[in-house]
Amino acid sequence: MASATPPPSASRPSTGQSGEDLILKIEDLQVHFPIYAGVIRRRQVSAVKAVDGVSFSLRRGETLGLVGESGCGKSTTGLAILRMLTATGGKIIYENQDVTHWAPSQLREFRRHVQMVYQDPYGSLNPRMKVSDIVREPLEVHNLDGDKAATREKIAQMLATVGLLPDMADRYPHEFSGGQRQRIGIARSLMLEPNLIICDEPVSALDVSIQAQVVNLLMDLQKRMGLTYIFIAHDLAVVRHISDRIAVMYLGRIVEIATRDDLYREPLHPYTQALLAAIPIADPRAEAQRARVEVKGEVPSVMKPPSGCRFHTRCPHAMPRCKTEDPALVTMGDGRAVACHLHSVEVAQPVAA
Ligand code: SF4
Repeated sequence: MASATPPPSASRPSTGQSGEDLILKIEDLQVHFPIYAGVIRRRQVSAVKAVDGVSFSLRRGETLGLVGESGCGKSTTGLAILRMLTATGGKIIYENQDVTHWAPSQLREFRRHVQMVYQDPYGSLNPRMKVSDIVREPLEVHNLDGDKAATREKIAQMLATVGLLPDMADRYPHEFSGGQRQRIGIARSLMLEPNLIICDEPVSALDVSIQAQVVNLLMDLQKRMGLTYIFIAHDLAVVRHISDRIAVMYLGRIVEIATRDDLYREPLHPYTQALLAAIPIADPRAEAQRARVEVKGEVPSVMKPPSGCRFHTRCPHAMPRCKTEDPALVTMGDGRAVACHLHSVEVAQPVAA
């Protein structure tokens, strides 16, 4: 499997995937965790396929929303791209270089350019460090904190950039609200002037009123600094505002990828339809009138995913073939890609790597 080739969007930057504009290409990424049995003769008996053949491309300046329920593999995908988890298969190509098997010394350079913003603004900041030390840390790790006055100035500038006051540098994380802590985390991720930031559920732990502020900050920073984002979230409401394209994951696979506008206007995969139907509508009359998409049961265990289409145990449209035939992710005539037998028509072409 590989990237979909979406069409340009009228209201957003083009999300096509051609040529030198690509900053990242993920080809058939797999992250499998072995399961062992036996005490004396330890042997692998199975594997948890947390990420199982994920492919997509990312253009410079684009935001790709990566969405799915807990345990679908979206955070594991982010960690594997950063090389904080080992890919057991596939390729991670950054700026035309295959970084999948780079040695630690090469990864130092890679991680200057690719940073992460974490979900938990409480747990991701060391409570014993002052904000100035937290934000300076990436410079220290990369031996870039030579001139003390210049570093102090850079920290003050970065705090201002994320909407914090320079005198906050001398305080500790517990003195800040969740939204402010997330701003500190964002400032830390920007210190090395990265090109690509993987935002792993950056607003999930925040109040709804604060979520919009942080999302707007990320969008503003993207414009000013030319950043590219992978924005991971567990529901489609959060990623709507910020994403150019959205990939929906289920049990380790991408089941649909499309431009934001296409996905919200006409979701094709039954799972995408269910995720969209779960977003509350503020208007009670519209809420009462909209079509229901019922999804049965819980997400199956990734240790033992269902045969055929992994969604068949919950899908309201499941057919006999869905239990035995695994649908490939195929590009549709309008440039999106979907993995569902309902859409495996003649015009659909298998997605090439
Ligand atoms: Fe539902 Fe079948 Fe499509 Fe899977 S392939 S999403 S079970 S209709």
